[in-house]
Amino acid sequence: MLKRDPIMRIVMKFGGTSVGDGKKISHVAQLLKKYHEEGNQVVAVTSALGGVTDRLLENARLASTKGKVSLVKEFKTELTNKHYEAIRDAIDNSTVAKEVLQILDLRIDELEKALIGICYLGELTPRSIDYISSYGERLAAPIVSGAVRSLGVASTEYTGGEAGIITSSDYGNAKPLEKTYELVKNRLGCRLGSQVIVVTGFIGENENGIITTLGRSGSDFTASILGAALKADEIWLWKEVNGIMTTDPRIVPEAKTIPQISYAEAMELSYFGANVLHPRTIEPAMREHIPVRVKNTFDPEFPGTLIVSEKLQCRHVVKAVSLIKHVALINVAGAEMAGAVGTVARLFTALAKAGVNVVMISQGSSESNISFVVSEAHAETALQALHAEFNREIVKEITSDENVCVVAVVGAGMAGTPGVAKRVFGALGNSMINIIMISQGSSQYNISFVVREDDAFAAVKTLHDEFELYNGNEIEMQLQSRQEGAESERKTPNIR
Ligand code: ADP
Ligand code: ASP
Ligand code: MG
Repeated sequence: MLKRDPIMRIVMKFGGTSVGDGKKISHVAQLLKKYHEEGNQVVAVTSALGGVTDRLLENARLASTKGKVSLVKEFKTELTNKHYEAIRDAIDNSTVAKEVLQILDLRIDELEKALIGICYLGELTPRSIDYISSYGERLAAPIVSGAVRSLGVASTEYTGGEAGIITSSDYGNAKPLEKTYELVKNRLGCRLGSQVIVVTGFIGENENGIITTLGRSGSDFTASILGAALKADEIWLWKEVNGIMTTDPRIVPEAKTIPQISYAEAMELSYFGANVLHPRTIEPAMREHIPVRVKNTFDPEFPGTLIVSEKLQCRHVVKAVSLIKHVALINVAGAEMAGAVGTVARLFTALAKAGVNVVMISQGSSESNISFVVSEAHAETALQALHAEFNREIVKEITSDENVCVVAVVGAGMAGTPGVAKRVFGALGNSMINIIMISQGSSQYNISFVVREDDAFAAVKTLHDEFELYNGNEIEMQLQSRQEGAESERKTPNIR
């Protein structure tokens, strides 16, 4: 009898660098064709072409502050050239190229009108920021889908909303509503297999059909939402790095790929700034127990990182070190705060009402001051909210320091292992790095602390060395011997 390879249902997301230009999109299309022709059911989620979301946001701000229509026209030309060039390099079938050009022209005209509107109004609401920034993905998806079609494989593109991603109206940080999972299944489920489905990452729609975004780097989250809704076998996140690494390779070039990591650890890492993953990516995958792989688009055979529920114990109690930049440390102090019941509740309620997200918190045992970290973008709003709430009663001093970073060490092996904090702070002390604030999450999978911005890279390097993370062999060997065991036990392949 003919032996078939197992057929998998895979949702694959390609990040901004992976679809950075036409040549890269062409490579992505080849990958999609290969997995499709091997008999897999493939859904591709695409980010905007690298750098486009930033340019959209910059130009939306410029339009609202400067109000110059001439700048909008210049930006239109820049965006048109970039995407036309991508079409030229990615699609070598003139009929398909023409179809895609038409869609892009229409969308770029719509965008131009919206930006000119902002010029005249002189204001930029969260809703219009989401609308403008959605164009990055809305221009990328037709090109990716066209590139697949030009290779002779059927493909259709959908926006997040068309695919069924219906969200709350929290512009800039929208959350999928529960009905999304049913809708996506109904809208895309029946189309799987016969074609490569391409969906815009990052964006959804609220219940009134208004475009929303899931937060920066939100395409990872889109892939996980679609994967959970379609009960995919795996979710693959294609990036320009070799998976999740022991730290950001731009800071420590000796960083190693982590071959396997648990959902819980990956969540801690993404919450604590390893901007390799959108913070909410893991939640939908985890609820359906779907393995997530982080792979390198430019080295597709490299296995990358597998994220699963299992927590693999290894000598490395600490698996990774991450760094969050662009944060502010806010300190709230006043002698009367000691024993004043409800102060903390008032403080955090005021911040929550102002939409400020608190990254970490610490309160000294004297109770006369509370420090917390927020993203730099929220610092001003946080200060205003606190001044309005306390108005010099109880709280005497509110200060903010933006020249700081948060460093986090993460690893499931830290839970219940004594001495990790001693090693962390001992090593930093030996390197003469001063720690401004400390916090340990109750999951015990991470210890995070604040240092001066000037010390941040040195802190990451010191800890990467202290926990010998450059030495990744042991976990690889463990996995290998386990895979060999599983190989010999395997009975039935997973055929749908
Ligand atoms: P995408 O292509 O999906 O948008 P990102 O650019 O968001 O990918 O994420 C990859 C980047 O994250 C890398 O360029 C890398 O510098 C950075 N990074 C930070 N921490 C890590 C880490 N622990 N492992 C891998 N990459 C990391
Ligand atoms: N294009 C969006 C961003 O740059 C979303 C993404 O790339 O995942 O944040
Ligand atoms: Mg990203």
